Amino acid sequence: MIIKNGNVADLSHRRQNEELIFDKASICNAIENNQFALYYQPQIDLPTGRVVGFEGLLRWQHPKHGIKLPEAFIPAAEQTGQIGQLTHIAIDTGFKFIEKLDPELSFSLNISDCSIKDKHLVDTLDSSCHAFHIDPHRIVLEFTETASLENPAHAEDILTQLNTNGFRLGIDDSVAGHYSLTQLEKMHFSELKIDKSLVATMEFSSKSRKSIISTIELADSLGIATIAEGIESNLEAIGLRELGCQLGQGYYFAKPMDEVNTLKWLEDWNKSLRLPT
Ligand code: C2E
Ligand code: MG
Ligand code: MG
Repeated sequence: MIIKNGNVADLSHRRQNEELIFDKASICNAIENNQFALYYQPQIDLPTGRVVGFEGLLRWQHPKHGIKLPEAFIPAAEQTGQIGQLTHIAIDTGFKFIEKLDPELSFSLNISDCSIKDKHLVDTLDSSCHAFHIDPHRIVLEFTETASLENPAHAEDILTQLNTNGFRLGIDDSVAGHYSLTQLEKMHFSELKIDKSLVATMEFSSKSRKSIISTIELADSLGIATIAEGIESNLEAIGLRELGCQLGQGYYFAKPMDEVNTLKWLEDWNKSLRLPT
């Protein structure tokens, strides 16, 4: 060990203050030490205030650096080829969790653009449903609008297989409208998610409102549900409901929570439904 300008105690102090590096070795170490957890954010039926399901969102609970958000480690895991392992963790943790909930409640899972190339994705989802006694119809797999750009034929094949096996498909972060009407119909998407950037600006930007309205109209014409994410106020919840958006999710209802707090939140929410009025 070479120590310059200091002793061992200095070095260990410096290590504690070092930035967390998001590389293959640190992600591998985190997987081995069970540091990845799934947080859950409720999804609400805007007209009735009822909880319809939860979205699972990964967190890295680092013993020294605290809770790290996905934007810090998902791109790294995509680059190092470890995203498949993180998807497996999210599937197993999420399925184990929803097995305990009312079978009417759905569970949304984010699938990275890279995972659409993973030939084990369909088998993994099928076998996890089997292992945890989950009806695949409860699962909404959220893909981004760019998931099928690289290899549209392959993406279509995977999405069709997932759909045939009973999984529901959703489009996350819908802003750009990459999917055409025909693609949406052909691939049997059942949910379109309105991006939080549109929700955050809908009050003062007519462009955002128009995008939201056209997304809802497109979805309605195909019998697809719309879900708005990033709802932070009562005003946004009411505005979206008035525009015909069926479902909503955001800090106004609840922030993503760990399993224990999610169960407590659900119990409280069910006792006193809080309708946006
Ligand atoms: P996303 O799927 O679009 O998730 C919504 C993000 O918005 C989440 O950030 C959530 O915490 C945040 N959010 C929810 N409500 C509000 C709100 O009212 N206001 C604001 N400002 N933000 C809100 P998070 O958890 O940091 O996740 C970021 C992204 O990371 C996700 O975006 C998703 O693309 C990705 N991600 C999360 N978990 C996974 C995973 O298991 N696998 C993959 N491939 N990606 C994941
Ligand atoms: Mg999502
Ligand atoms: Mg989103």
